[in-house]
Amino acid sequence: MKCDNCGVREAEVFQPHTGKRLCRDCFLSDVQERVAREAKKLGVTSVSRVLIAVSGGKDSLVLADTLSKVMDPSKLIAFNIVEGIQGYNREDQVKELYHYLRDLGIELISTSFKTSVGYSLDEMVSSSRARGLNIAACTFCGGFRRKLINQAGRDVKADLVATGHNLDDEAQTIIINLLRGDVRKLMRVGESPLKLSDKFVMRVKPLRKIYEWETTMYAFLKGFKFQEVECPYISARPTMRAKVRDLMYALEEKSPGFLLRLVENFDRIGEEVRRESKLTTLPTCKMCGEPTSFGREYCKNCELLISAGLRPV
Ligand code: SF4
Ligand code: ZN
Ligand code: ZN
Repeated sequence: MKCDNCGVREAEVFQPHTGKRLCRDCFLSDVQERVAREAKKLGVTSVSRVLIAVSGGKDSLVLADTLSKVMDPSKLIAFNIVEGIQGYNREDQVKELYHYLRDLGIELISTSFKTSVGYSLDEMVSSSRARGLNIAACTFCGGFRRKLINQAGRDVKADLVATGHNLDDEAQTIIINLLRGDVRKLMRVGESPLKLSDKFVMRVKPLRKIYEWETTMYAFLKGFKFQEVECPYISARPTMRAKVRDLMYALEEKSPGFLLRLVENFDRIGEEVRRESKLTTLPTCKMCGEPTSFGREYCKNCELLISAGLRPV
């Protein structure tokens, strides 16, 4: 069967949300064009410095690859964090990432939890367990990753931080925050998120309209070698996201394009709400000086270290 787009080459990929069968080249161009459109809307292509958070996973490689095609790669600087998870963080991983990004013309800077926070993720988890606490590894991991990415963004004077979250992630985040009634977090999702502190470098997600199966297919068709080993802590991940993901997939299967419509409609609602919003600047943490939530003395990350017995109050 011929490609529905060019009508010349053989179709290799079926895209349920458009109902089209595409050849390899037309599929890759379709993803690149959609990322380019979103990146432009988010302002990524018009600023002078963008920090891209890269984990070495498929989405981060797709992000680096597609962005390097829509803007001057010297304006991009990649940032990688080694969490310190035994059996998951391989030594050669950062090297591979470095070579791959160098070929795209993107500089890579790298750090680890051990260097920047003082403890590896394994150490944070075991210290909190020794105190009888049941704090999920992902809670430490997600919080400190966000903090270090933001700090790195500030250090390199980036105008924006770009992350590799895809459409599936974005749709799940919207639903989870809706279920929790978390308006502030909801307002940080979307195309023009609110900036609640001068210390935050604005975060954008250029892949937020690309389905996860599409980033996987893109990485596969491009022959990317990416981190495929599963994190040993993944089974302890919060169950809410897994439940929401299953629900979203069931709806997408019944009605192809569901996730895309959800995110696009949310953007429209978000735009309205933000115009009316009276949210003000966030207070700062007494311990590290980073932004924290209203009514809190310490930020979530410092609270975690205090309860794990890794920081005296
Ligand atoms: Fe971090 Fe959790 Fe992801 Fe593992 S599964 S890398 S602990 S967020
Ligand atoms: Zn084609
Ligand atoms: Zn703090």
